[in-house]
Amino acid sequence: MTTGRPTRARSHRRPRRRGIRVLLALVAVAAVLGIAVVAVPMLRPAGPRPLFQMPVSCGETWQLSTYPGHDDYDVDFFPTEGEAWGRPVLASYAGTVTVAGINGSLGSRTPENPEGARGRGGGYWVKIDHGGKWETQYLHMLEPPLVTVGQKVAQGDQIGRLGSTGNSGAPHLHYEQRRGWDKVETRFDGTPSGITTDEREQILRRVSNNCPAVS
Ligand SMILES: [Zn+2]
Repeated sequence: MTTGRPTRARSHRRPRRRGIRVLLALVAVAAVLGIAVVAVPMLRPAGPRPLFQMPVSCGETWQLSTYPGHDDYDVDFFPTEGEAWGRPVLASYAGTVTVAGINGSLGSRTPENPEGARGRGGGYWVKIDHGGKWETQYLHMLEPPLVTVGQKVAQGDQIGRLGSTGNSGAPHLHYEQRRGWDKVETRFDGTPSGITTDEREQILRRVSNNCPAVS
């Protein structure tokens, strides 16, 4: 025998290689399409900023705060009057609920047992998609959210009750506004909150204008 391969074998191999090439080409096309489906919406610019309102009841004064290690732009809401536990948490703006569940673990902090075991992460939380890549999220709620995934909410609808589930020291609402992948400075009623960095402690006060629409 010589080292040359029989022509018969070679002629058999060719169609098989062609088949593999076609298959690889199809896989490549599918991959490019898959990436495009994911990437194109990401590259699309965000829509106009919704006129967000504070996630708490109309006319109430709340403390907005942050502390070192929190995360830039994150806002913790504490009421300045009355009991914090169980206070209504309201949708900042109309949208569709995309998350309503548990982030991390709940722990066991309740009004009856405020020093109970600390949980991890956000506890009971909700995320709302407002369209145009704008989202808000609401953490540490007392009980399972009052809304479900896919539900449409209007501005001011109650989505849960304020609590201390997850990694929370005291009953409060942790709140974020996001544009695409990025957290941004929260704005309420068109005015920036002023909480931009977690490099230092900040405590502000603001009155909620999350009020029922007058018709
Ligand atoms: Zn927080």
